[in-house]
Amino acid sequence: MAASQLHVALAGNPNCGKTTLFNLITGQNGYVGNWPGVTVEKKEARLSSDKSVIVTDLPGIYSLSPYSPEERVSRDYLMGGEPDVVVQLIDATNLERNLYLALQVIETGLPVVVALNMADLVEKSGDKIDADVLSRRLGCPVVMVSALKNTGIDRLFAEVRRVAGSKGKAADHCFDSAIEDVLQKIEALLPGSVPAEKRRYWAVKLFERDADAQASVNLTRDAAASVEQLIADCERDCDDDAESIIAGERYAVIAHIMDECVRKAPARMSVSEKIDRVVTNRVLGLPIFLAIMFAVYFIATSSGAIGTAGTDWVNDNLFGEGFELFGVSFPSIPGAIEGWLASIGASELVTSLVLDGIVAGVGAVLGFIPQMFVLFVLLSFLEDCGYMARVAFVMDRVFRRFGLSGKSFIPMLVSTGCGVPGVLATKTIENEKDRRMTVMTTTFIPCGAKLPIIALLMGALVGDAEAAWISPLFYFLGVIAVIASGIMLKKTRLFAGRPTPFVMELPSYHFPSLRSWALHVWERVSAYIKKAFTIIFASTVVVWFLTNFGVASWDGGSGAFGFLPGMAGVPEEFTDYSVLAMLGGAIAWIFAPLGFSSWQATAMSITGLVAKENVVATASSLLHIADGTETDPNLWVAFAGMFPTAGAIAAFGAFNLLCAPCFAAMGTIRAQMNSAKWTAIAIGYECAFAWVVGLMINQFYLAATGVFSIWTVVALVFAALILFQLFRPMPKYAWTDDREPAAAAA
Ligand code: GDP
Ligand code: MG
Repeated sequence: MAASQLHVALAGNPNCGKTTLFNLITGQNGYVGNWPGVTVEKKEARLSSDKSVIVTDLPGIYSLSPYSPEERVSRDYLMGGEPDVVVQLIDATNLERNLYLALQVIETGLPVVVALNMADLVEKSGDKIDADVLSRRLGCPVVMVSALKNTGIDRLFAEVRRVAGSKGKAADHCFDSAIEDVLQKIEALLPGSVPAEKRRYWAVKLFERDADAQASVNLTRDAAASVEQLIADCERDCDDDAESIIAGERYAVIAHIMDECVRKAPARMSVSEKIDRVVTNRVLGLPIFLAIMFAVYFIATSSGAIGTAGTDWVNDNLFGEGFELFGVSFPSIPGAIEGWLASIGASELVTSLVLDGIVAGVGAVLGFIPQMFVLFVLLSFLEDCGYMARVAFVMDRVFRRFGLSGKSFIPMLVSTGCGVPGVLATKTIENEKDRRMTVMTTTFIPCGAKLPIIALLMGALVGDAEAAWISPLFYFLGVIAVIASGIMLKKTRLFAGRPTPFVMELPSYHFPSLRSWALHVWERVSAYIKKAFTIIFASTVVVWFLTNFGVASWDGGSGAFGFLPGMAGVPEEFTDYSVLAMLGGAIAWIFAPLGFSSWQATAMSITGLVAKENVVATASSLLHIADGTETDPNLWVAFAGMFPTAGAIAAFGAFNLLCAPCFAAMGTIRAQMNSAKWTAIAIGYECAFAWVVGLMINQFYLAATGVFSIWTVVALVFAALILFQLFRPMPKYAWTDDREPAAAAA
């Protein structure tokens, strides 16, 4: 570390505004979400106004006693010796709760500056916080700031510079004298190598019997025994365990500080509270949420709505007939490229690769951006304004009945954008079983890339006119898959146990800042554009190769491998002889009971594993619909033609929406599970579940139309097993762990 550089760490509770501040001072575009648990990995950037200052945005935590992975990330970073100054961010509208972590951070002996964020909201509420008294009590500078309104930031960094290089000092706050006595004795037993300003921190940690602390302090055997004796005596005297004793002391200190520093305005019901009375209402909460999500998907995907209009325009003009602007007519993109290729005398092979492969595939994905844009504008608004945090709260009540935690719902919400951050968001779930289960099920939620599949299914199933109501149905299929899986898995030994306690404070509603809203949308949309030109681009080339090359042996000839359209006597429908046809045909039997045994449908499902957008891209290239996108009626007809019944179309849709997610998400699952076995269990479960759902849809549809087979029986057996697992009572072993049944707190 160069001497001239200053490392500043941003610490604080979830949702106190760290990322907002980080973005403001570094010009970065980190993910700001109005709910806890959004930053789960630390992020680093230089201060815009002074490049020698490096700022680290740590994950939000409630305590330095690590229970969850992100608490460990934050603590290890703070204690690892890298930060020169810690900016302890506090949501000033929630001072009491935030002080619990602040006291611990100050205790570390690092130089700390406390930033009381959300000063704007405090002012609005009429509450008064005496920053000077607070500063004296905490023993470190305290600055009122608003990360959102950009006030107080200069003063904050003036203080940061002032305390940089100073030693930081042991906290001034004192616990009960009996406890202080014991802590002092433990301090005396610490090795001399522990610097003065950190001795109290380690003494407290040892008192809490923190395993990490015991490992890193390296007490002599005698000292360790004496420490244990001191703790045991103290526990006996207080009739409580050591960890609770310290927690109790901290709360006592906080109560005292609150008394001295805060003057509450006379209570009145805020607008937020009034809104919450309705949207978190026991009866109305869930229907309101369902209605809102229905509206969101309806607006994004229904015909005539903005998103679809944009997509249609792109497809009809940019990728269709060409268009006229200010009296000048422009050719469509494929048209322009075709003309250019012809003018340079490109071979048929190159022309086919560029037009049928790349332009068709990438175009199919790009055409979909306007719809995705609308979807993300709406979802980001719901997130930023604070509504989604309420939904997690409402869902917790629902989930809890089934032994699930509302914490599992946040990853699901994030997954509506993309499964990768969705899976990452599971880090906030402390309970390992619950975390694994959420990782396994969260990608059932349709992500942005699955929207084109849904749109294609809508078109194929009912045609454009009345189709819009179908898209929310597929969304709810995902939600139901998550809930049903959760209930079923929870009753198995692998996942049994009480749900993780769900505690989160509800942030107050506010109109999102346009900047963060726009960034949010851009972050998600740009990820798709990037994907279109990288992974989708690459896979369209591979799929083009697999479909255009093959063995032509229809004349009873020997059969030669080559570029099919170029070979003599090859029929128009040459793809039947392609490598992809062989590969797809070889495993198509797996899907026969689901009603889609054609090699094309199989090939679409396989390319969908690379990226879900590929399903539509592959459909348009295999079905020979030039530049077909999910809103192209020609593609609907050709697509529907692959399936014997509407039931088979729905089964295909259900399978593709529920089976293993794309490679990127699978990679994230692997990283989160940190185990090959658990990754295999997760992917295996998803595929098997998707197959069974597809089977039931197809077979029950057939049965309804009077067609029965052995597969009808198989589907019935599966349905019976699922119903049994769903409705049987929670087995005894399910509640074996020793956790207290936790109450959800607002
Ligand atoms: P983090 O979890 O600590 O990183 O918090 P975020 O930066 O994601 O912010 C959480 C929410 O608080 C977002 O909706 C922000 O817009 C909002 N927020 C952050 N700082 C302020 C502030 O100073 N005033 C107000 N009114 N809202 C803020
Ligand atoms: Mg954050």
